[in-house]
Amino acid sequence: MTPALGLYLHIPFCRQRCDYCAFYLEVHREPAAEAFCRALETEIALYAAEPCFTGRQLASLYFGGGTPTVLKTDQLVGLLDAVQRLFPLSPACEITVEAHPATVTTRDLAALRDRGVTRISFGAESLADDELANLGRPGTQAETIAAVMSARSGGFTDFNLDLMYGLPGQTLESWERTLHRCIHLGPTHVSCYALTVEEGTRLAHEVRRAQKQEPDESLQIEMDRSAQDILGRAGYEQYEISNYARPGFQCRHNLLYWTQGEYLGVGPSAQSLVGNVRFGNVANLTRYKASLTESRFPLQERTLLTPQEQLRDAVIFGLRLRQGVPTSQLRAHVENYGHVETWRELSADQLIEDVCGRSRLSARGRLFADTIAERLF
Ligand code: SF4
Repeated sequence: MTPALGLYLHIPFCRQRCDYCAFYLEVHREPAAEAFCRALETEIALYAAEPCFTGRQLASLYFGGGTPTVLKTDQLVGLLDAVQRLFPLSPACEITVEAHPATVTTRDLAALRDRGVTRISFGAESLADDELANLGRPGTQAETIAAVMSARSGGFTDFNLDLMYGLPGQTLESWERTLHRCIHLGPTHVSCYALTVEEGTRLAHEVRRAQKQEPDESLQIEMDRSAQDILGRAGYEQYEISNYARPGFQCRHNLLYWTQGEYLGVGPSAQSLVGNVRFGNVANLTRYKASLTESRFPLQERTLLTPQEQLRDAVIFGLRLRQGVPTSQLRAHVENYGHVETWRELSADQLIEDVCGRSRLSARGRLFADTIAERLF
């Protein structure tokens, strides 16, 4: 049977750059956005014409960024129409659009729902205005609440809220308040990410000049523990280390990434994995458009993964999932890389557990995932 294929559309525009953001992006300008949409359609058409993709059904579509909703709703719908003309969608295809709460209206969201979008992912980050301001992230708690109400009245029943912890000025109590406010809004899915300070960002500059506090690692562990506890008690299952969902609402597109499923990424800087080939696009809008003007794939890198590397990736992602990875795969990986003793120690410390022949991080292990990864990979 042909494996499921996901399609990721990277929209590289935001209204402005948040202080902590190191992603490749451009500040949104309408003429550039319109030209980008044409180039993106060309790229999708080039893939659809390749014999290995012709007629393949899409199991998921994901508009990410950047901020996809800085595009006009007509432009997003136009891209969705182009995908549907070029690829068959599976009957249960999951279609997600990421949105900044301040960039959508009830009308926009109703239009997206009418055209088949099944899921909205809001970048809330915090539900405390002072923390958002400190973080250099535009937006307010009121805008997130309004966006959630709009999503509901637009017909969405499945939506995610992205949250971040370890923010400048954030305390354990204020993080827990954000978690409770989030639960009150009733999302089907919650993502919780620890803030990291990326080189080259305004936040890194401010931390170096002691104008902002660096995230405190032990406080972030406490905050992670609270998220596990508070979201767990509210009925959200932690199905991946940073992701919680109500039963039946796991993000199927992201699960493709974490289970070595096949996905195509289109748009500047987007990454793909098909079979044992990983490839990625240029992270530059001008060069991206120039390639597509000449009907060339805008690729920058292409790596053929060895069986050993495929196994390593399966184990890296699989350990972070609640479903884990077959213990036989973990054993083969630690033998390949000479980490058998480390695995024994991590198991003896109850950081990795074996449940019915599958291995995964334990609840305590999930708090130390990065350290464990450093030791095993
Ligand atoms: S909205 Fe997201 S992608 Fe855009 S600048 Fe902020 S963090 Fe980066």
